[in-house]
Parts: sequence; C-alpha cells; structure tokens
Amino acid sequence: MLALGGASWPRLGSDGHWVEALTQRGVRIAPLRPANCGFTVAWPDTFSKRFAGQPLKNVELRFGAHAVRGEAMIDRDGIEGGAIYALASVLRDEIARAGQATLRVALRPDLDRRRLIERLSKPRGKQSFSTYLRKAAGLAPVAIALLRESALGAKIDLPRLPPDDLAARINDVAIALTGTASLDRAISTAGGVGFDELDDAFMLRRLPGVFACGEMLDWEAPTGGYLLQASLATGAAAGRGALRWLAR
Ligand SMILES: Cc1cc2nc3c(=O)[nH]c(=O)nc-3n(C[C@H](O)[C@H](O)[C@H](O)COP(=O)(O)OP(=O)(O)OC[C@H]3O[C@@H](n4cnc5c(N)ncnc54)[C@H](O)[C@@H]3O)c2cc1C
Repeated sequence: MLALGGASWPRLGSDGHWVEALTQRGVRIAPLRPANCGFTVAWPDTFSKRFAGQPLKNVELRFGAHAVRGEAMIDRDGIEGGAIYALASVLRDEIARAGQATLRVALRPDLDRRRLIERLSKPRGKQSFSTYLRKAAGLAPVAIALLRESALGAKIDLPRLPPDDLAARINDVAIALTGTASLDRAISTAGGVGFDELDDAFMLRRLPGVFACGEMLDWEAPTGGYLLQASLATGAAAGRGALRWLAR
C-alpha cells in the first residue's frame, strides 16, 4: 500500500522521491506541480519592504470567469493566502501557457458602488490623498499602496480621477503575476499517478498487489478539508481493494 504523499513541504517527509521508482516500473505519472500555492510578483522594493506579511482583507480576486472572496497575503516576492490558493490551479495553468497572468483585485467589493462614489465625492480639504482614501473608502494602508502602485504602472494620476473612475479603479486593481511559487512552499501537489494506471480497487495495473492512494494520485482540490477528505477516502477505498484482492 503506497500512501507516500505529494512533494510540497518536503522537509515534512513527503518528498516525491517515489516518482522515480514508479516511473522505472513503467507507471505513468503526471508531473508534480504546486497546487494551493502562492505566486511571484515583481513588487517595487519600497512596497515589499513595507508591506510584506500584511493581509489584504475582505477582497475579491478575479481571474477570467473565476472570482473568489477572502484574504490574500503580500509577501516579499509575491502573494499568497486563502483566496489566492482558491484560484491557484487556473492561475498556474495560465502562467504555464502564457508566461504570466494578470490577477484583478476588488479592494472594497462589499461596499455598494453608488455608496462608494458618494463617499469619494466628499471634499478632500487639506487631507493627504492617502488619509482621504483611508477615511472615505475605508482602505487599509497596504490596499492604498497597492492601488497607487497599479495606477503608477498604468500612468494614471489617481488624485485627479473623478469619483466614479476612482471607485472603479479601487475595485479593479491589476496585479501581474510573473510565476508560480515553488512546490516546496505549496500546500499541496497536483499531478501524480494517473487514474488510468489504477484499477477500480486502486491497484496499480502494472504492479499487481501494489495499491496507491492519497495525494500521490493525480488529482487536486482546494484546501479547507477537501485534500484530507480525498486522501482519507482514497485510502479507505484502496484498503478495501487490498482486502478484496487478498481474499481472492
Ligand atoms: C502546510 C500544510 C497545510 C495543509 N492544510 C490543509 C488543510 O487545511 N486542509 C486539508 O484538507 N489539507 C491540508 N493540507 C494537505 C494535506 O495535509 C495533504 O493533502 C494530506 O496530508 C495528504 O495525505 P497523504 O496521506 O496522501 O500524504 P502525506 O500526509 O504527505 O503522508 C505521506 C507519508 O509518506 C511518507 N513518505 C514519503 N515518501 C516516503 C518513502 N519513500 N518512504 C517512506 N515513507 C515515505 C511521508 O513521510 C509521510 O509521512 C495541508 C498541507 C500542508 C503542507
């Protein structure tokens, strides 16, 4: 019974070394790739130095037709966190295809657009633009800095934008993802032993009497219990399969 895990966080024991042993025996294995992982972003030094480790809370992340609400964490070389992990498979595949992916962030998705425009229409007085955004739009310093960085990249003078355009930008900040963070730091692993290599009892067709289950099989799922559920469920199915095989 092989239950050797994927290859994320290898120092915890699951290092994917089994791939070589099974490949040598002719078992088809889809390449192991990071899943539920972070992504690299070329943040300007000043931004990453100040905001690494800070969360973007209650945001909506969008990529193509996919949208996820939740939290994302800025880190020194990129971005990670629950909402990022939820989009990780589509972002990873786009980066593999196109070399990069553009993630779009709504910083105040819960605030009604009309209400946000109304709040941004109040006179700024002597407040700095950051103080004004913090008070009027309820944005945290990390969110304001992200908004400003994206406007800088697009050569947009934020303070001069009319309130409706500013509201639109607050809910459509682009982040260019330059790569997928390494498998070492991913929560889980995509790829693994192909299902066509297994029979109904989770026995390897090429190695009668050898069963496989858990994350070493070629599936991926979001975090939040689904990975453990799939590992335990395939483990139970493979265990029953082994008992039936022994009985025969
Ligand atoms: C930081 C982190 C957080 C996570 N959070 C969640 C979560 O919140 N919810 C969720 O559902 N899932 C979560 N997961 C994923 C979940 O832990 C895994 O999907 C699950 O443990 C996989 O189970 P498994 O039995 O297939 O493999 P593993 O739990 O990896 O077990 C494989 C075992 O095989 C051993 N092994 C590997 N190779 C060999 C070898 N050659 N010889 C002998 N022994 C070997 C390893 O040491 C290990 O003990 C998380 C994972 C990580 C890393």
